[in-house]
Amino acid sequence: MTTIATQFGIKAALAQLGIQDINEGTSTGTQSFATGAILESYSPVDGQLIAKVKTTSAADYEKVMQAAIEAFQSFRLIPAPQRGEMVRQFGEKLRQNKEALGKLVSYEMGKSLQEGYGEVQEMIDICDFAVGLSRQLHGLTMHSERPNHRMYEQYHPLGVVGIISAFNFPVAVWSWNAALALVCGDVCIWKPSEKTPLCGIACQNILSEVLKENNLPEGISCLINGDYKLGELLTSDSRIPLISATGSTRMGKIVAQTVAGRLGKSLLELGGNNAIIVTPDADIKMTVIGAVFGAVGTAGQRCTSTRRLIIHESVYDKVKTALVAAYQQLRIGNPLDQNNHVGPLIDTDAVEKYNKALEKAVIEGGKILVEGAVLSGSGYESGCYVQPAIVEAENSFEIVQQETFAPILYLLKYTGTVENAIAIQNSVAQGLSSAIMTTNLREAELFLSTAGSDCGIANVNIGTSGAEIGGAFGGEKETGGGRESGSDAWKVYMRRQTNTINYGSTLPLAQGIKFDL
Ligand code: NAD
Repeated sequence: MTTIATQFGIKAALAQLGIQDINEGTSTGTQSFATGAILESYSPVDGQLIAKVKTTSAADYEKVMQAAIEAFQSFRLIPAPQRGEMVRQFGEKLRQNKEALGKLVSYEMGKSLQEGYGEVQEMIDICDFAVGLSRQLHGLTMHSERPNHRMYEQYHPLGVVGIISAFNFPVAVWSWNAALALVCGDVCIWKPSEKTPLCGIACQNILSEVLKENNLPEGISCLINGDYKLGELLTSDSRIPLISATGSTRMGKIVAQTVAGRLGKSLLELGGNNAIIVTPDADIKMTVIGAVFGAVGTAGQRCTSTRRLIIHESVYDKVKTALVAAYQQLRIGNPLDQNNHVGPLIDTDAVEKYNKALEKAVIEGGKILVEGAVLSGSGYESGCYVQPAIVEAENSFEIVQQETFAPILYLLKYTGTVENAIAIQNSVAQGLSSAIMTTNLREAELFLSTAGSDCGIANVNIGTSGAEIGGAFGGEKETGGGRESGSDAWKVYMRRQTNTINYGSTLPLAQGIKFDL
């Protein structure tokens, strides 16, 4: 029988990426080992076991930490542009492995093949960005108030950076952190999601080839595999100055408190509850494309997925009708088959949460416009495929206030001016991504002004999902406040030092203070 894995070349991709039937889930650079329990990775695409991973025990973790600390001692002294050269070579290897890694992302996580390739492209892009950055880790110089003094600031590497990542971007989010941290002179320990361990092993295999070829110290990039308990080892470890954690707000609240308790730094990228405002002046065709892609792309499992549409009453029925019609066209199935629009949810727990959310929406008074369903039968054997749903709702519903990681879109009506829509948009605990669809300059600018969206990302005539690596990525409020990727996000991976040098022959004190002996 031809399986999906053979039909779409998954077996060849696994072989190219060095994935075995049973894998060592712990690696310090080029050395792999693990003594923990076995973790099995099943594909949500067809429910098949892909491979097994030996997890990282507490003793393994200690070995990793020692390797990372040791590597940092020499890596921090390598000039930043040379570290950039290492990242450039990593980007080249990603180009060579784009197809294989993209396929693994699609098969292990369940996103469409195009999005799998897109994730690897994002890794390549951040490598290019980091290479340039390796020559631009600038500090400022300031004028001293004292004569014959010079004052400036410089950035030094922090040390060991702990990276905890979520299942839905199983490779890109790590690379956003790692590429920047590495050019900054830090070493990394990565704990991928326990739902996508093979993606972690594949990335580590690619990067460790670069380490080997350049004779770079063991432990510059380390991988540990396991569940939240392993994450807790990282967050409570005072040898790690920075924890970058991507995942649910629930997780972020625990991580933030643990890291703050030891006065460490945390960079948090947590849940979103993203909305598009549709004003009377919106281009309806663009709105429908943006909203449908935002709501059903990645089966609603992006942190930036569109969850709420806030539509003006004057265009409400028009948008509603167009959306319902568009949902009838959606093809749900194997994400490796490029004819399909919507793939599976990550697992059957996610399916249960989707069912519960729809039930709750109805109990709270919501009206179902496009019925949800769990699909069964041929092609849906994994039990993870669901029908994207649309519900007419109120922003005040408890369920609308929460992030359900599934393709459920809530339609909310607003009346009056755009200020009312902005108020609804901002009336949730999360603050990640937001958008307005309008051709009216006043509305667009108001949305982007201080009185506008309170989110980390605010777009005009673009949906909420999908971001370029050049900008800093992240959100406010319960999204955690962290910024990753482009702009000056690199600064969080370094420690800032202010230096004042006296080249005169007296010792004047600041603020004119006199201290004569
Ligand atoms: P999750 O919170 O269940 O798990 C994320 C990671 O945290 C996993 O590696 C997990 O093992 C680890 N973890 C869980 N509890 C922990 C603890 N107490 N201590 C240390 N580590 C712990 O999230 P998920 O289901 O994998 O991902 C979906 C969530 O991630 C959604 O809420 C989504 O919005 C969010 N997300 C946010 C961004 C962003 O940039 N803002 C990006 C991707 C995903």
